[in-house]
Amino acid sequence: ASERLYLGMDFGTSGARYALIDKQGTIHAEGKREYPNYMKEDSLDWALSWKTTLFSLLEDVPVHLRPLVASISLDGTSATMLIIDSKTGEPLAIPYLYNESCPDALPLVKSIAPMNHTVCSGSSTLCKLVSWWNNDDSDKKSTMLLHQADWLLWLLHGQLGVSDYNNALKVGYDPEADSYPDWLLSQPYAQLLPMVKAPGTSIGHLKGDIRTQFGFSEDCIVCTGTTDSIAAFLAARATKPGKAVTSLGSTLAIKLLSTTRIEDARYGVYSHRLDDKWLVGGASNTGGAVLKENFSDEQLEKLSEHINPMEASPLDYYPLKSVGERFPVANPKMEPRLHPRPESDVEYLHGILESIARIEAKAYMLLKDLGATQVDEVFTAGGGAKNDKWTKIRERVLGLPVSRATQTEAAYGAALLALKGCQ
Ligand code: ADP
Repeated sequence: ASERLYLGMDFGTSGARYALIDKQGTIHAEGKREYPNYMKEDSLDWALSWKTTLFSLLEDVPVHLRPLVASISLDGTSATMLIIDSKTGEPLAIPYLYNESCPDALPLVKSIAPMNHTVCSGSSTLCKLVSWWNNDDSDKKSTMLLHQADWLLWLLHGQLGVSDYNNALKVGYDPEADSYPDWLLSQPYAQLLPMVKAPGTSIGHLKGDIRTQFGFSEDCIVCTGTTDSIAAFLAARATKPGKAVTSLGSTLAIKLLSTTRIEDARYGVYSHRLDDKWLVGGASNTGGAVLKENFSDEQLEKLSEHINPMEASPLDYYPLKSVGERFPVANPKMEPRLHPRPESDVEYLHGILESIARIEAKAYMLLKDLGATQVDEVFTAGGGAKNDKWTKIRERVLGLPVSRATQTEAAYGAALLALKGCQ
């Protein structure tokens, strides 16, 4: 018999990707699509755009590999949600995007949720739901809330009303109790909430019409998904407590697998559940954006060659693109600090890289102080991961083994969830 394959798709902020892997994690095919622009009235029709992209990606999977696909999963952006007709699955309004804010709902949400709960932010899924509930005067009897990933998965499996506890966190789901809390269930809009399963749980078979149209196998199943940033963490296959992924993109984000759950709203630190462990995360405003303001990618490469990473830079910066920091220091008024600037660009860059490494070390220290499992190894993702000198600097400053993550694509992480759903 031919080897079975596992299909993961990622619906990110700027486009969608797919990855097709085998049991060992080897990639057999992958691809990317931009979202087409469709209009509905005067706004972009995101739902149609995602749906079209979903089927484009299925078409991109090589024909001869489709019959081998045993399982499919996908991720979407966190707090992107749709209100749909619970009979037909059709969106009843333009989707609410991840970065949209509904401050009008905040006072009400704050009055029902525990203090500093993740839902107490204008862009939380719950604020979006409450804002829609209070402002839309249509008949709400047969309506349902689905996250972007839930809705796209529904197009594949056809059972309405299933989500996962990663996507559902920002609507108020309690992943520890594995239920919606009473303060949420007692609200009139609680009837709209989807049922919740662990990410990577089989929901059902791929719909017959899609199966025959595309040539997938009869036993191909569809599994619950997760959010895009969790899928990107999963891609690194950091599966033991103490393993972490630092993402060095425009900003610096860290994620650590922990046996304990920690939350601290002051620092924007919270935990996502991953089976019997917790994925603890925090995001600093420092990162590559400041590098990009000062140097081109080519300059970064050239200048880095001349850095001696074993030598500590005496320059003490706090590189920020604008005023304000959240993690590992909560100070909305923090000023960027990039002075004194030495004459040598090599020394300047060394100082910035070293300073960001110190902030990274402080970030992991804070997670430990808040009660998380101590970090013992760091994998790196993002544009900064390719800088070997920076990696060496970080190893010295963190006092830990640091390496580049082999896989960093969220689509790869979603494929691992598809694989998990088959086991
Ligand atoms: P994002 O997706 O968050 O915008 P990326 O993961 O694509 O970011 O990373 C882009 C960042 O990586 C830019 O800020 C850029 O300055 C930085 N970068 C690119 N090349 C290097 C390098 N050789 N060393 C350090 N940083 C780099």
